[in-house]
Amino acid sequence: MANCNQQSIEINTRDYVVQATAANGHVRALAAVVTGVVDEIARRHKMWPAASAALGRTLAATAMIGAMQKGKEKVTVQIIGDGPLEQITADGDGEGNLRGYVQNPHVDLPLTEQGKLNLSAAVGKGHLWVIRDLGLGEPYRGGVPLVSGEIAEDFASYFAQSEQTPSAVALGVLVEVDGGVQAAGGLILQLLPGASEGLAIILEHMVRDLPAISSLIDSGSTPEDIIEQAIGDLQPKYLNRLPLRFTCTCSRERCESALIALGKEELEDIIREQGKAELTCRFCQEQYLFDKEELKNIQERIGKTGN
Ligand SMILES: [Zn+2]
Repeated sequence: MANCNQQSIEINTRDYVVQATAANGHVRALAAVVTGVVDEIARRHKMWPAASAALGRTLAATAMIGAMQKGKEKVTVQIIGDGPLEQITADGDGEGNLRGYVQNPHVDLPLTEQGKLNLSAAVGKGHLWVIRDLGLGEPYRGGVPLVSGEIAEDFASYFAQSEQTPSAVALGVLVEVDGGVQAAGGLILQLLPGASEGLAIILEHMVRDLPAISSLIDSGSTPEDIIEQAIGDLQPKYLNRLPLRFTCTCSRERCESALIALGKEELEDIIREQGKAELTCRFCQEQYLFDKEELKNIQERIGKTGN
């Protein structure tokens, strides 16, 4: 029997997130490049461009929120809208592990008048949720209604409303026609307590004047380059640099636990009607096949543990 083969792929040394402070500690800045991680996930799910773009923006923000966490603290972002993508889910943590999926990866909508992917229509109206699991029991969950479905604005609204931190957020993904990802990443600038109103206006201008994040990354910019280009004048001081990788926590053992949780009778039905069970991880698309013999073994174990 296969072991718990945790899916973890160190893809790309260009994928990392940095955190800095600037303007004498009144500004927190984070920038991330997630091109390799998003490309890996998009290919595993055979995503079409709108899904790759939506997931890429969400994962870039998740990577930066994860970098604000400590070690194994986890963060899950859910964007649930009434558009055809339905739901975007991304998981991250303070160690740089990332994974995610889009409920409906095959969405095709007409481009906007500017020739861009229409993410607003693909996501629709709904909510953005951020769930932080600090490992202290009940996770902290905050959410806001979606502002535009363009995702960056939606995260800015989340930080302002749910965390009372005025923030400028820029996210960008350059998608290839086959849904592959050529560049993906983002920038978050936050005003910390004690910052003046003038500084808020300066930050807004700095982000507005910044070239598209995806074209910066496509032309080779690192997360530090993005921060320098955005707020170099505010003397950023770098605090940490966290490599990012695609990791999925699924395993054969976890699938067995899921089968055990079905209970003896449900398993009996599966054995009788299908003679096997095929489980697919919705995060990484890894398939786990259990034949009749293995299902019977699992069923016997239920009896022994008294479930
Ligand atoms: Zn998985």
